[in-house]
Amino acid sequence: MASSPKKYALDFLSFVNASPTRECPSGLSQLKNLAFHAVESAKERLLNAGFNEIKERDSWAERVTAGGRYFLTRNGSTLIAFGVGKKWKPGNGMALLGAHTDSPALRVKPVSKRFAEKDSFMQVGVETYGAGLWHTWFDRDLSIAGRAMVRLSDGPIVSKLIKINKPILRIPTLAIHLDRQEAFAFNKETQLFPITGLATTALNKAPPSTTKEPKERTGDREFKPLMAMTERHHPAIVGLIAKEADVSINDVLDFEMILYDAQASCLGGINDEFIFSARLDNLTMSYCATEGIIESLEPKDALDDEPGIRLICLFDHEEIGSKTAQGAGSNLLPAIIRRLSALPDEVTTSSPTAYEEALVKSMLWSCDMAHSVHPNYPAKYESHHRPEMNKGPVVKVNANARYATNSPGIVLTEEVAREAGVPLQLFVVRNDSPCGSTIGPMLSAALGARTVDMGNAQLSMHSIRETGGAHDVEYAVKLFKKYFERFSKLEETIMVDSTT
Ligand SMILES: [Zn+2]
Repeated sequence: MASSPKKYALDFLSFVNASPTRECPSGLSQLKNLAFHAVESAKERLLNAGFNEIKERDSWAERVTAGGRYFLTRNGSTLIAFGVGKKWKPGNGMALLGAHTDSPALRVKPVSKRFAEKDSFMQVGVETYGAGLWHTWFDRDLSIAGRAMVRLSDGPIVSKLIKINKPILRIPTLAIHLDRQEAFAFNKETQLFPITGLATTALNKAPPSTTKEPKERTGDREFKPLMAMTERHHPAIVGLIAKEADVSINDVLDFEMILYDAQASCLGGINDEFIFSARLDNLTMSYCATEGIIESLEPKDALDDEPGIRLICLFDHEEIGSKTAQGAGSNLLPAIIRRLSALPDEVTTSSPTAYEEALVKSMLWSCDMAHSVHPNYPAKYESHHRPEMNKGPVVKVNANARYATNSPGIVLTEEVAREAGVPLQLFVVRNDSPCGSTIGPMLSAALGARTVDMGNAQLSMHSIRETGGAHDVEYAVKLFKKYFERFSKLEETIMVDSTT
């Protein structure tokens, strides 16, 4: 990495894009664009940093030991990584840090093949995922990426990550001459509806040939409960996916594809003080969490005197409420903490209440992006709580517990920030404004652990192209690193339910 103060911003761009980039290129991006790809990016970094992959389905009794660094994934879209202190004992506390990997997007429907009236245009049926600012998706150069289930030539069915590197879709606006509406209103079913080509070409052209020839298999002519993929979707699109997966078109069995903006993320602003990018919410915090734990464990002796566990959890499905098998509302984090609390320990006999003891001594930093003050809409913000970009992470407070932050949490976070030399800001919404929420309240209810909600300030949350602060990336990485390094010592000094 470069040594300038912007090195973290540039490294973040390489987390979001496949290669570092300072300027918006006119060419096509290598966007790592959704939960699956974000998890893949984090995995690569963890493996390079010496973490070992483990599986939920295995016993950890022999595999996970004090002093080790590990990670696991669920559904390929949620990731947990942790380091176990060499002085770890069942019942000890954990420094937990959560973020989310998903962002609002349009997703290809199970049957997506459409032809417009009189067969003029080929179109693709899409579903909305999460609460996107959908008007920002018009007139962008869109492509698709996601996960395909494919059959390999020797028989097994595997999941492959797919990213089509060319803008194959677009949602066109209507010319102003044909509709002079003041406010841009549209129907999400019939007008937020991409085109992907002209029907005449589709009707006269075979799907692109893949490197693999379709094979006749025994059973191919048997009863088929579902229509073939090339009937459900435009064959040209299935062909592109097959080519990317390096299988024949008949071996693409199903897929989960979302649309993404083909323009790469970049630094912006007169002094490179901004980041212009898709999915800053919440790939910024996913990146900072990953770098924070990696940097805190970089020294070989980092865990020698550590009595606790340092853990990050990057969850899928925050944007749709988290109540899924891989969401923050699932059993995942409690299950992992329970398993870690039951790890065999040579010195101590594990107490049957080690899990509950660990929860009380643990803390969760729930990290999700915050709202920077918007220069054109200052009245939308509470006058004394207007976070600014590049002035440090924002601690979010809400009396109605839309955020889980409380005073002990603020005090501990402030102490960590003081040691890290990182400024903090405070945020509450106006009483006459709606308030967002995140994974903090639900996880604090599930775990009973002290929780703080925080995140970097950004503009245009849930737009296809958001704006964040370039220097805030470094602030958050430094803060998270210090949290992991110092939590076990600081946790004993900030008591709530104590007798003194
Ligand atoms: Zn978010």
